[in-house]
Amino acid sequence: CGVFGVFGCANASSLSYYGLHALQHRGEESSGICTVESDNPRNFNYHRGMGLVKEVFTQDVLSTLTGDRSIGHVRYSTSGESRLANAQPLIFKYRDGDLAIATNGNIVNAPEIRQELERKGSIFQTSSDTEVIAHLIARSEKDFVEAARDALARIVGGFAFLIMTNDKLIVASDTNGLRPLAMAKLGDGYVFSSETCAFEVIGAEFVRDIMPGEMLILDREGMREERFANSGRPAVCAMEYIYFARPDSDIHGANLHMTRKRMGQRLALESFVDADIVTGVPDSSISAAIGYAEQTGIPYELGLIKNKYTGRTFIQPSQELREKGVKMKLSAVRKIVEGKRVVMIDDSIVRGTTSLRIVNLLREAGATEVHVRITSPPFANPCYYGIDTPDRKELIASSKTVEEIRRAINADSLYFLSDEGLVDTVGIGSNMEDSGLCMACFNNHYPTPVNEESDKSCSC
Ligand code: 5GP
Ligand code: SF4
Ligand code: MG
Repeated sequence: CGVFGVFGCANASSLSYYGLHALQHRGEESSGICTVESDNPRNFNYHRGMGLVKEVFTQDVLSTLTGDRSIGHVRYSTSGESRLANAQPLIFKYRDGDLAIATNGNIVNAPEIRQELERKGSIFQTSSDTEVIAHLIARSEKDFVEAARDALARIVGGFAFLIMTNDKLIVASDTNGLRPLAMAKLGDGYVFSSETCAFEVIGAEFVRDIMPGEMLILDREGMREERFANSGRPAVCAMEYIYFARPDSDIHGANLHMTRKRMGQRLALESFVDADIVTGVPDSSISAAIGYAEQTGIPYELGLIKNKYTGRTFIQPSQELREKGVKMKLSAVRKIVEGKRVVMIDDSIVRGTTSLRIVNLLREAGATEVHVRITSPPFANPCYYGIDTPDRKELIASSKTVEEIRRAINADSLYFLSDEGLVDTVGIGSNMEDSGLCMACFNNHYPTPVNEESDKSCSC
């Protein structure tokens, strides 16, 4: 998911619209914006809907969302329920006003807290575990900021939070900084975003990343920088660097395109193979393919093309049409790959079905050899922090060796980037444990306690 917040900028809803549009790749299922006017803070305006930002928000809708403060959200489709009630921001009645919450991530201990709250009489309206934080805040007798601090300290997991009341905005990141969240300045106001690419779009100037365990409080008095807990081991999600974030974003100073290019270069050093062309699986692996090509001198080519218009609303072909070769998303470019030995770069192998399909596409288009190079180590463990992954038993690398995976995806050779290669190419904290990254899905070293039985579906 993606979150976007505005504090103290005119036309907050329009800024959110453009900001969320830049974060669209983080979630296409639903989107929402909630605004407040600082001169008339009793008036909480919001709109949420299923679908893309450009579908949910028309000019007419945006014009009703008046205010200079806002929080917004785009939701990723997960194994969890896809319905409007789970679309964020979630809005609650709170004391004599309102409370809105937008989050990216997952709360690992939500089921326990939820059970405890239900025993004490709380009635939950959604299946989203983001609601847990609202109940924790609402049940507290302390003032809002204290209540939010206690609630944030209670939850375990990977999350970026924007929490807004009629007169305050709280911005927070989990104690390991798993999910990215950054701050920028726009005029006299501030904007907050899951990714920095959204700042560029609205002309905001990047200030800094939100740090693990940090909590910013913004109100009439300005901004206070506090923490709700000591920071744990810094552990930014490695998959953000590998796959999720947009190439024009920076996370903790590392630009995503440059980082992925270094991953490709490193792959070439770790696992050179003689070939005629290098191609990347669009869009996430283009940067890495350029890096592999630069390092080896093998030409980079657009051997695979992605159709940008295959959204979730597109009618999927029937099994019969699929067998006849109707391909929705990716096509191999025959004139480019025919008769060629191809190095195909991709970001990850999760179930293995996508890789098999793409290798076969290249072979059907005439590639004589297909060598697969992956810019992550084998993905063998599930994520509990909001990146949608299947159960452990469905992860191909949890039960198969690299050689078995190679056979399963029909490749001539297969290589995964080493753990050290990943750490070096991201390069954000060389003297930290796991170099400041969460790599649990690769090395099973989770930065928080997790429970294999617990619900991993994203709360956002
Ligand atoms: P699979 O091996 O499961 O068939 O497909 C893996 C590919 O799906 C990856 O290359 C990645 O680009 C893409 N993908 C789409 N959604 C996700 C996701 O939520 N997590 C991961 N790890 N990969 C995803
Ligand atoms: Fe990211 Fe993997 Fe850690 Fe999940 S387990 S937060 S996908 S690095
Ligand atoms: Mg991919």
